[in-house]
Amino acid sequence: MINRSELHSAWNALVVAWKVVWQASSDIERWAAFMPHCDRLMGLARAHGLTELETTLEPLLQLLANLESPTEQEKSAVDRFLATVFVVVRRIMSPDYQQQIVPRPEDEYALPTIVMLTKLPESMHEMLLQMEHYGYQFRSFTDYGQGVQYALAHRAIAVVADLPAGVLAEHKPLVDDLSNGGIKWFCLSAKGDFALRLKAVRCGAQGFFISPLTVNVLVDAVDPLAYATKDEPYRVLILDDSQTVLTSIQRTLEQFPSINLRTLRTPQHILDALLDYSPDVLLLDFHMDGCNGLEVARIIRQNKAFESIPIVFLTSETSEEVQLEAMRNGGDDYLTKPISQAQLVNTVVSKAERYRGLRKLMVEDSLTGLYNHVKTKTLLQQSLLLAERQGVPVSYAILDIDYFKKVNDNYGHTVGDKVLKTLARYLKQHVRKADVVGRYGGEEFVVVFFSTSAESARDKLNKIRDGFSKIYHAYDEGIFSVTFSSGVAEYPSYSNMMELVVAADEALYISKREGRNRITIAVNTKRG
Ligand code: GH3
Ligand code: MG
Ligand code: MG
Repeated sequence: MINRSELHSAWNALVVAWKVVWQASSDIERWAAFMPHCDRLMGLARAHGLTELETTLEPLLQLLANLESPTEQEKSAVDRFLATVFVVVRRIMSPDYQQQIVPRPEDEYALPTIVMLTKLPESMHEMLLQMEHYGYQFRSFTDYGQGVQYALAHRAIAVVADLPAGVLAEHKPLVDDLSNGGIKWFCLSAKGDFALRLKAVRCGAQGFFISPLTVNVLVDAVDPLAYATKDEPYRVLILDDSQTVLTSIQRTLEQFPSINLRTLRTPQHILDALLDYSPDVLLLDFHMDGCNGLEVARIIRQNKAFESIPIVFLTSETSEEVQLEAMRNGGDDYLTKPISQAQLVNTVVSKAERYRGLRKLMVEDSLTGLYNHVKTKTLLQQSLLLAERQGVPVSYAILDIDYFKKVNDNYGHTVGDKVLKTLARYLKQHVRKADVVGRYGGEEFVVVFFSTSAESARDKLNKIRDGFSKIYHAYDEGIFSVTFSSGVAEYPSYSNMMELVVAADEALYISKREGRNRITIAVNTKRG
């Protein structure tokens, strides 16, 4: 397995050392300090069998080995190599690495398939019952060859092979078929000693389970495969009055599919561009005709919405004084012209990554990963505006778990938290992508169904209610199940956010009063 943090720190150290060389490349000492970092990266590539990284580093190391008194030309060559190396390092560090993404079925509601190969199908009884509630089709085969064929034909999201004594020679053709077909497989074994695990890893296993396999363990393992979301490219906005600079940066960044670039030559429309494009990082020229970058940065920072967007100054100033000044004025970093391609790519991606992480924290509920209260309200408001324009209804549903206090009292808070996570996951899986799922705090959840009448929202929710009530939740000594109640209000029957929220709350209260585990639609008597 690759150790991502080791690779990350090796790369970062290399980037820092390269920055030092870039600023004074005639100093051979600096080159000498830089080279070991390249060797270290190569060492990691070899140790972990990262052949792609190894091949990319090869020409760079060769160039460095033959370097006596480096010229400008050689410096640029190294820089170009580094930018390419960077692309490879990023790819390796991304969570999707080596994971061929299996296309999701056409139908948004179709469930991904998991195939179980086992000689003891009766031990899978609970799994058969439960996996569907967790959003999977689960098929079990005693004939392993047949199971593999089924998995290949149905593009299974994962195969679990029950191999009590680990992967033996006779299993090799089966698992090779799976690997060649791009299907992930997991080894389920009676023991988990190192030799067995090593064997499985060498045969391409995605993971290793020890019997008995539980629903929770399996779900945690396959969820990232089935429900992984591909990250959108980072959005980079650059404001520079020199077309030459814009073109050169464009050329560098357009090699990276994970980066999307927009350019601007005058500062007049910077705020509009920030609003409209919502970049993850802004590259800002220091010296422009008519005004300077510091002033532009100050204008940007005066807007609450752009308080934290990373700003990277592009400057030809090498004096530390000016660079400090830039940082004091709300800059997060600076790049000196002529801009090193390697530094450019590295800075852009690391700043954008951090900013995305920060924004995620601001809109997500930390326990469930759903939208938090504030973000849910914003999204509801946006849905209503859009619905008004398109002339479609929106249904707003509030859900509250029944007798949740008892869950905490009887099984403990940790178990209670797990129930909340399970409901969050269940909701997310069973509504459309365009619908919003949020957690209002506590055991209250919200779903905004776009372009959906209250009646169809109720039908949908009833299916969800029924499915969720059939999920078993485990505690130390056994299992239990829980239900929820819900209230639904529809726009435009209730014409604004305030009215919707109040009406849905009242409808929820009726559901509770009438016995719980049910859905109630709010009826607006004032409008009829
Ligand atoms: P009802 O059917 O009327 O909704 O009954 P209830 O017990 O669910 O209602 P109540 O609102 O009285 O209790 C909600 C409980 O939810 C109280 C609190 O202990 C628990 N709770 C709130 N937030 C969390 C949380 O983040 N984790 C856990 N485990 N429990 C929480
Ligand atoms: Mg409750
Ligand atoms: Mg409550």
